[in-house]
Amino acid sequence: MKIALAGNPNSGKTTLFNTLTGSNQHVGNWPGVTVEKKDGTLRRNMGETVIIQDLPGIYSLSPYTLEEIITRKYLISDRPDAIINIVDASNIERNLYLTTQILEVGIPVVIALNMIDIVQKKGDIIDIEKMSEKLGVPVLEMSALKVVGETEVVRAALLAAKSGKCPTPITFSPETENVLREISELIKDYVSPQTLRFCSIKLFEHDGKTRLELPDAVKLQIEDLVYKFEDKAGDDSDSVIINERYNYISRITEECVILPHKGELTVSDKIDKIVTSRVLALPIFAAVMFLVYYLSISTIGGLMTDWVNETLFGEIVPNGIGAFLERIGTAEWLNALILDGIVAGVGAVLGFIPQMLMLFLFLTLLEDCGYMSRIAFILDRIFKKFGLSGKSFIPILIGTGCGVPGILASRTIESESDRRMTIITTTFIPCSAKLPIIALIAGTFFPRSAFVAPSAYFIGMAAIIVSGVMLKKTKPFKGASAPFVMELPAYHPPKPSAVLRTTLNRGAEFVQRAGTIILLASVIIWFLSNHSFSFRVSDVADSMLAVIGGGLAPLFAPVGWGKWEAVVAALTGIIAKENIVGTMGVLYNKTGIETAFTPLAAYSFLLFNLLCAPCLAACGTVAQEMKSRKWTAFALGYQCGFAYIVAFIAYQLGRFFSGTGFGVGTVAALVLVWAMLMMLFRKGEKKWRQS
Ligand code: GDP
Ligand code: MG
Repeated sequence: MKIALAGNPNSGKTTLFNTLTGSNQHVGNWPGVTVEKKDGTLRRNMGETVIIQDLPGIYSLSPYTLEEIITRKYLISDRPDAIINIVDASNIERNLYLTTQILEVGIPVVIALNMIDIVQKKGDIIDIEKMSEKLGVPVLEMSALKVVGETEVVRAALLAAKSGKCPTPITFSPETENVLREISELIKDYVSPQTLRFCSIKLFEHDGKTRLELPDAVKLQIEDLVYKFEDKAGDDSDSVIINERYNYISRITEECVILPHKGELTVSDKIDKIVTSRVLALPIFAAVMFLVYYLSISTIGGLMTDWVNETLFGEIVPNGIGAFLERIGTAEWLNALILDGIVAGVGAVLGFIPQMLMLFLFLTLLEDCGYMSRIAFILDRIFKKFGLSGKSFIPILIGTGCGVPGILASRTIESESDRRMTIITTTFIPCSAKLPIIALIAGTFFPRSAFVAPSAYFIGMAAIIVSGVMLKKTKPFKGASAPFVMELPAYHPPKPSAVLRTTLNRGAEFVQRAGTIILLASVIIWFLSNHSFSFRVSDVADSMLAVIGGGLAPLFAPVGWGKWEAVVAALTGIIAKENIVGTMGVLYNKTGIETAFTPLAAYSFLLFNLLCAPCLAACGTVAQEMKSRKWTAFALGYQCGFAYIVAFIAYQLGRFFSGTGFGVGTVAALVLVWAMLMMLFRKGEKKWRQS
């Protein structure tokens, strides 16, 4: 038995899916969070195995966006046994638009009026019995968040599936129905009886994506019918259908929905008046993100990390393991491998877990209560002015967790050039794996500054905007951006279990990576740093690693860290960003990192690693999504070049302003700054400023 969850974005499908299946799909406040369909097994025993399918959120079944295509293809071709249509009851008119279409696909339907808690709080009343009678399908109240009514919904869906009774589609005006009847008559031998109504309507609407094998003669006849109809109606057939759907919906809501407080501001509206106001929105956003990074990296998380790093992985674990190894009498090289390689490398990465958990706790809280979607909204409003699409910010917000899903989320952007630009810039935002570098540099070199850790986030953001504005002015990226429609869901207290689960999941992923990829890399780094090319144990200065890194080091002298250790660390960061810290743990195990960098050089190192090409997994995703070698090479080249230039400017100007150096580098940095400003403020290729 297969049951599909279909509904508008943000109607609560994933929340319901997670409750029903016990899984942990990402619940999010912006479109594009669920782009791929996910299935799971119903946890509660209802007498048989029930597969629940979470579908991407859509506003209609017209195939314009990727979400629509996936959902529609699933409903029409895979044909679940029943559909649970999740309707955000606090937004009922708009949500019912999709419902009118779902009633047409010839599959039993149950309507779940979700967010009923919000409706009740507002004091609105929905007459579900009358609605059920009008729509001809079961209508039930539910709150996916409060876990109310979801069992009844599933039970009703199972009943509907077993009965196999398909809903009666809505009736259009007599003129429309006449044409639809004629189309059905023409195609009834070519499509299944269940999809006859759906296909007829789609053909009537000129929906080109309905791939039907029809003889040319039939196609012509249909076109003829529709053109005649449009002539008479004086309107496009698809507009006629849309209008009639909305008329139908207003008739239903007029009869079934009572809104005693219509027009009054809710608490959520009042908060939004401040949080999204033109003047305060940005300062509030900056303050919130500052606090998030400051609290998790510098204070609460920092204190715990210090203990974990210095005491747990600095003394307790190495001493314990050392004593154990001595007792069982292992060889000298094995002791060194375990203590100086594995414990030093993996331990260095694991030490940052407290900070990471804190950061994710805060970010998940912000997302769950609804604030993150305001950020997307605020940024959209601002960046439209620069010709950038607000949709680009969804991948970026997701990218704070991991760049891979961030890049994947760019699929929701229709414009090819905007999509490419988003893929290129998404990984500028610090992901969880970059957090240890931020924390390490901020904690070691700037222990008294509250600004270094949060600056990583703001620099990532600035890099995205600056790159976006600059790229937009070049030929391949110019053009107006698509409008971005998004809902602002009502604020609500976060759901502790969901927040906890997401945070712990991310933590678990981090630990898993430390135990696999970072472990392996640490062993390799240890080996390469202890053996020369003739494979003899040697002084670290003659090691293979020193030779490899040393060859590249001069390249990084102008950015302040032309030392082989730092270069090797940056290189291993390409495998996984945590490796940078792991490698430093191994290479500076004896000497300590403090003496290896000046604070300015350390900051330049941080800047470069924040902005340069992402880890292999993300690079692979870039290649997969670009579907072009040329574009992949451009993306990675741009990221590395941009990172180098930013680090160079910061280092050279930093030296200049602190009075420790003036020379060719300073002049070059000033020229680069000037060139960047020119790119930012020059007129675009074409008029790209809209509005
Ligand atoms: P999807 O886009 O349809 O998958 O929707 P999500 O499951 O991601 O939910 C969108 C937002 O609505 C999340 O912030 C949920 O916590 C919230 N939400 C979901 N169901 C309810 C509900 O019944 N009541 C309230 N108040 N919020 C809900
Ligand atoms: Mg979802």
